[in-house]
Formats: sequence, C-alpha cells, structure tokens
Amino acid sequence: MAIAALLHIGFDSKLDSKEALVKIVLNRYYIFVSEEESKLEQTTWLLERLGHLLRAEMRQGAQRHELKLVQLEALYYLSRANRYSLTTLTVADALALTKGTTSQTLKALVEKGFVERRSDKDDGRVVHHDLTPAGQRVVAECYPVSALENLCQNHRGEDMNHLNKILTELLRSLQVEQGRVAFGVCNGCKYFGETAGGAVCGVTKEPLSKSDSLKICREFALPTEA
Ligand code: SF4
Repeated sequence: MAIAALLHIGFDSKLDSKEALVKIVLNRYYIFVSEEESKLEQTTWLLERLGHLLRAEMRQGAQRHELKLVQLEALYYLSRANRYSLTTLTVADALALTKGTTSQTLKALVEKGFVERRSDKDDGRVVHHDLTPAGQRVVAECYPVSALENLCQNHRGEDMNHLNKILTELLRSLQVEQGRVAFGVCNGCKYFGETAGGAVCGVTKEPLSKSDSLKICREFALPTEA
C-alpha cells in the first residue's frame, strides 16, 4: 500500500501498479545509462577532436620542413626513444606502421640529413637510427605543439599529473587490447633499478643516465606485471 501510494497507483489494480513500477525503474535505468553513455560519447568526441587538431598543427610543422607527417612523427619518436629502441622494427611498432613504410620513411629522413644509420657494436646486422643535429632542430621547432604548451602553463602541476595519469591508463589499456608493445618511460619500468652508483637497467645490467631514464623503451614493463 505504501508503495502504491508513493507511486500514486490505485489499490485495486495489481497489474497497473506493477507496470508503473517497471516503468519507473526503466526510466531511472535509462537516465543512468544515458548519463554514462553521454560521458563516454563526450570523452570519445574530445579525444577524436584533440587528435585531429594536434595532428593539424603537426602537419603544419612537417610542411615547414618539407616533410610528410609520418616523417616528422618518426623524428619525434627517435628523439624520445632510448638506445634499445632505435631499430626499423621498433620504429614500426611504435608508430603502428608496416616494416616497408617504416623503411621508406627512415630512408627519406637519412637522405634529407635528419637521421643517420649506425651499426650495432655487438651485432653488425642490427642498425640503429640516430637524429643528426639538423633532425634535433626540426623536433625542437615542432614539439611540443603550442596548444599543449599553453595547457601546461595554464594549469597546476598536479592537474597535469592527473591528466597524464588518466591518459597513460587509457594508452596502456589500448596497447593491451590491441596486443601492442608497451613502450613506456624507463623510470616507470619494473626493471628500472637505482643503486649507489646510479640507475641501472635490470634487463641489460647497463647503467642508465638521467636522460636515459626519461626516454621511451620498447622493453618497458609495468611494475604491476611482476
Ligand atoms: S629499465 Fe626497463 S625501460 Fe629502462 S632500459 Fe631497462 S627494460 Fe628498458
């Protein structure tokens, strides 16, 4: 009776009261679902628009240096990658390109004088790609894109940390879902070790400089995966 009164339903109709109750529950469920969906749609829309606009700015940067966007992206990747992550295959993995496209992209960058090839000191069959000073200048002129610089200047450090944390989680889940190599910043890796003599990689046992510890590595593994 109390429920019926609350729902303004007549006591004489059990069927009507049940239908009304179902209707109310469905309405509330619908509101809940649509709020969640609308948040998801908003996030999808924001990420999609941001991607387009950031790429538009990067495309302009590439044009200033007579480069294709993919060539500029390869330069940026090489500027951020550590010494274990500079091979053609690694660049292909990082940029989600085929090996053929990556080879062509790197070849063009070598011909333009922005990248130089270097054989591995232990295995001559392995070739690394380093930025030349000219390549470094291109990256310094095009990155970070100005919109992100403004964002960083206008928000507190803790807001930026929060944003980076959420974006990192999103990136990780996409990498796992798509079966891609993790590529993470070295000092967040489970193999990153700190000794009295400085930082060391737990995989290669080689020392890591401060600059190495801030670079991206293809062998990166999350500490929670241990
Ligand atoms: S500690 Fe991890 S991320 Fe850093 S170089 Fe070693 S494997 Fe790569």
